[in-house]
Amino acid sequence: MDHEIAWTHGTAGEPSAGPEDVLRLLRDAVRPEPGGRVEILVAECETCGPGEEFEVAKGECFCVGCCIPLGITDGYAHPAADYPWRLEASEVPLPPASPGPGFEPPDLPRCPAGHDVFHVAVALAFAADGALRGVSVGLRCPEDGALCLYVDNARVVPCAA
Ligand SMILES: [Zn+2]
Ligand SMILES: [Zn+2]
Repeated sequence: MDHEIAWTHGTAGEPSAGPEDVLRLLRDAVRPEPGGRVEILVAECETCGPGEEFEVAKGECFCVGCCIPLGITDGYAHPAADYPWRLEASEVPLPPASPGPGFEPPDLPRCPAGHDVFHVAVALAFAADGALRGVSVGLRCPEDGALCLYVDNARVVPCAA
């Protein structure tokens, strides 16, 4: 099954345009399970600080400044998640994880205007017992405000360290 990315347009040009857009996208897309909760945050590079933009490939987001990945595919650097994990698709397929032929994978997401660096927000869904269950990733084009849900509620499977 192909991983189709559906882009929507945010509120570019309005005073509120910014990471709030992509936070709102995730808030609408991710619902907590009964008794659980959802934590939504704008992704920041630990080295470069807030406001950094990310390149996205193979289901992972890489800081444009220092190329360090966020760890979406194998364990996001989040205090509540101190184990490595892997992701499994829920109802929606994961972004393709295997590189295409040649240097540049063919699955690099681009906004409808062709930009390929993004602000990234991550939603973590926790069960009632506090276990991390799901990860969703939203992208926002900083140039024109286009938004997409890149990872749609992937299931988190802890793996041994
Ligand atoms: Zn960085
Ligand atoms: Zn764009």
